[in-house]
Amino acid sequence: MRAAGLLVAQTLQIVSAAVAPGVSTLELDRIAHDHIRDHGARPSFLEVPGYRHTLCTSIDEQVVHGIPSDRILRAGELLSLDCGAIVEGWHGDAAVTVIVGGQDSARPEDLALSRATEESLWAGIAALRVGQRLYAVGEAVEASVEAACARDGRGYGIVEDYVGHTIGREMHLDPQIFNYAVKVRGPIVRSGYTGAIEPMVTLGAPETRVLADDWTVVTADGSRAAHWEHTVAVRDQGLWVLTALDGGQARLGGAFAPVLA
Ligand code: MG
Ligand code: MG
Repeated sequence: MRAAGLLVAQTLQIVSAAVAPGVSTLELDRIAHDHIRDHGARPSFLEVPGYRHTLCTSIDEQVVHGIPSDRILRAGELLSLDCGAIVEGWHGDAAVTVIVGGQDSARPEDLALSRATEESLWAGIAALRVGQRLYAVGEAVEASVEAACARDGRGYGIVEDYVGHTIGREMHLDPQIFNYAVKVRGPIVRSGYTGAIEPMVTLGAPETRVLADDWTVVTADGSRAAHWEHTVAVRDQGLWVLTALDGGQARLGGAFAPVLA
C-alpha cells in the first residue's frame, strides 16, 4: 500500500505543478493517467463503474467527483484534485486542494478554507491510534474546523453527505470514517488498519446536491469547498501516511512510524 500511496502522492505533485490558467482539467487527467500507467500501476477511479477518468477535478463550489473536461482553468479558482492508484492489488487514495495561478491569485477566504481543511485532515489522522475508537477521527476533524472558525472569524461547514473510508484490497471498504462527531461508539482500531481520511469543508453551509451529470457534487448554497485526503496505516508503533511523500514525518512528530524495508 505504500507503493500505491507513494505513486498517488507523486502523481498529485506532478498534476499540481501543471495546474495553471489556460490548462484544461482533461489535460491534468491525462498527465495523471500517463504517470500511473508509466509506473506499471492502474488508476483506480477508471474501475469505478461508469467513471472514465483518473482524477476527480472539483472547481470552486464543486465539492467532490468533478469530471475532467475541456473546461479551461482560470486564475483564482479553487481546484481539488482527487486521485487513486492500484499497485499489485493494493490501493492508495488522496486529494489536495490548490489555487489556480497560485497564492497570489487566491481570494483570502479560499486560502483560509483550504488551510483549515488540511489542518482538520491532520487532526483527524493524529486521532488514529490502536485501541482507540475509529470515530475519534470525526471528533478531531470537527474540533479542528471549529477552532479554525474561531481563528478565521468564519462559519465553515463540514460536509456530511460524503465521508472517509477504510481502504486496502478495494478503495472503498467499511467501516466509513465520519468527519464529524457521532453518538455511536464505533469500531476499535487494530494494528494494521488502513483508512482514508478525507474532510470536505465549505465557506458556507454543509448541504450538497448532485448535478445532472450524476457525478459532480456541489454545495447547495453555491459556496466554495475544499477537500484534502490521505491514506493512513495504523500500527502499534504509530502512524504511516502512505500517500504523503515523507510518510507524514513532518506533520506527525513522534507518532510517525514507517515500516522500514
Ligand atoms: Mg479520494
Ligand atoms: Mg477516498
